[in-house]
Amino acid sequence: MNDTVMNLNSRIYIAGHRGMVGSAIERCLRANGYHNILGRTSGELDLREQRKVFEFFRKEKPDAVILAAAKVGGIMANMSAPAEFLYDNLMIESNIIHSAYKNKVQKLLFLGSSCIYPRLSPQPMKEEYLMDGKVEPTNEGYAVAKIAGMKLCEMYNRQYGTGYISVMPCNLYGKGDDFDPVRSHVVPGLIRKFHEAKVTDAAEVIVWGTGKARRELLYTDDLAEACLFLLQTYSGNGFLNVGMGMDVTIAELAEMIKEVVGYQGKVTFDKTKPDGMPQKLLDVTRLEEAGWHYKTELKDGLRQTYQWYLDNYNLFNGGGTNA
Ligand code: GDP
Repeated sequence: MNDTVMNLNSRIYIAGHRGMVGSAIERCLRANGYHNILGRTSGELDLREQRKVFEFFRKEKPDAVILAAAKVGGIMANMSAPAEFLYDNLMIESNIIHSAYKNKVQKLLFLGSSCIYPRLSPQPMKEEYLMDGKVEPTNEGYAVAKIAGMKLCEMYNRQYGTGYISVMPCNLYGKGDDFDPVRSHVVPGLIRKFHEAKVTDAAEVIVWGTGKARRELLYTDDLAEACLFLLQTYSGNGFLNVGMGMDVTIAELAEMIKEVVGYQGKVTFDKTKPDGMPQKLLDVTRLEEAGWHYKTELKDGLRQTYQWYLDNYNLFNGGGTNA
């Protein structure tokens, strides 16, 4: 691998630079002196269009690529549009990874997800447990696409000698998230529900599922730092879990968000709604051995995210992909 690929003048293409993860990575790169950053909105470049993606790479010739574009959403969005989660993500990954290889991009970082692991995987989940069992049905389309993206990187490295890295983050939350009440993930969904209950003096907030499912939640600015750290230092072929190495129950998370928002009413669990995976705690030994550890505690990250929501939520009236 060419170690000179990532320097402060490198031309770095962030696919999905408007999304929660891509925008956090862009902030992190700029804060660290990287200034030659390329981005295209989904309106400017539809990443599902093979020819257009190839043309973009041929013209722009990036040195490095961060693949943070994806069709994303919470448990309900995944369940209601499984074909889109599979197709859109397969197309985005295949087009970008193949165009990167064809245009001699040496360094690429692909963002996957902890939902690639089997539903009933032993916990915490080590990288080698991948494909030891069936994935969680509520996010099967997304999981299959993310496994394929990671395997593309691995096999391009094996066959073509590229240096493509895949990271599998736990559930993420932070600035720039989608706060849609139905489509979103649990943290933005509950921030919005508790906030609206507070301002309307509602007697209760409904939290989906039993409250017993467990989730590991990493602040997106921390993930961005992990990505930069790995781009600068990591050259192994295996993918890496990225998380905190600890999780909470949804009931505990709801209590934390209730406190951060300052809501005084009752929390009720709607057991007719799915829990999804019972637990998906990552084993982060490999990442810690590489030298990275999270910074932001869950409570602090929730406070910062709530503040961001208060400052920006009027903007929320559409969207749904970070492509
Ligand atoms: P998942 O990790 O793919 O299941 O994604 P989510 O972030 O959508 O959901 C995580 C867990 O939170 C699931 O067990 C949900 O049932 C639960 N949950 C509770 N209330 C909510 C809510 O308002 N929105 C979402 N998205 N999930 C919720």
